[in-house]
Amino acid sequence: MPPEPADRLNAVRNAIDRAARRAGRDGDVELIAVSKTQPAEAIAPLIAAGQTSFGENRVQEAAAKWPALIAAHPHLRLHLVGQLQSNKAHDAVALFDAIHSVDRPSLVDALAAAMAATGRRPDCFVQVNIGAEPQKGGVALGDLAALLDRARGLPVVGLMAVPPAGIEPAPFFALLAKRAREHGLSGLSMGMSDDYETAVELGATCVRVGTALFGARASG
Ligand SMILES: *Cc1c(COP(=O)(O)O)cnc(C)c1O
Repeated sequence: MPPEPADRLNAVRNAIDRAARRAGRDGDVELIAVSKTQPAEAIAPLIAAGQTSFGENRVQEAAAKWPALIAAHPHLRLHLVGQLQSNKAHDAVALFDAIHSVDRPSLVDALAAAMAATGRRPDCFVQVNIGAEPQKGGVALGDLAALLDRARGLPVVGLMAVPPAGIEPAPFFALLAKRAREHGLSGLSMGMSDDYETAVELGATCVRVGTALFGARASG
């Protein structure tokens, strides 16, 4: 029999705690359960097991799925972990408690306008294209300082990155942590199912874990 969702959740939480202890950290790591493509029936057992933070990568999918769950469980925290189009900034600000994909000036401006209009101020992470991959979202390292400057009016709490696939992620996590320190930012959103323990050892304050909690996705 495949493991129950609550068992998977316990296993991931324990692995996070062990990684934090190995690194001599006191273990304040937010586990974000990335529920993209998962139906509400797959999410409910994790909520029942005490999981409070969830992540989605599409505004429209999240807007269809989450308002009912949040109405029933108002303590939940919803994170946007996928790329955000400027024309969806308003919907994103209205729905999410944190946005992990702030990566360009036009989006900074759209988010600032949406926050002014709604009065909501979700935590913002600036996403860095840490491996300088042409196809990937995130601001280039060389443009990070200017983007942070532009985002001074937003509640920026940290940096986020997805390292290149298929190679050792540790140097990329370490580099992201260094840049965050240099800019005086304490939040570090890094680490997914395959590498979250390494990310925690290198200072992650949020890990974004999907597959290890829900099993393999059909797509996406
Ligand atoms: C899908 C996704 C995750 C979770 O990935 P898993 O490998 O399933 O843990 C984390 N971060 C982002 C940005 C994602 O799109």
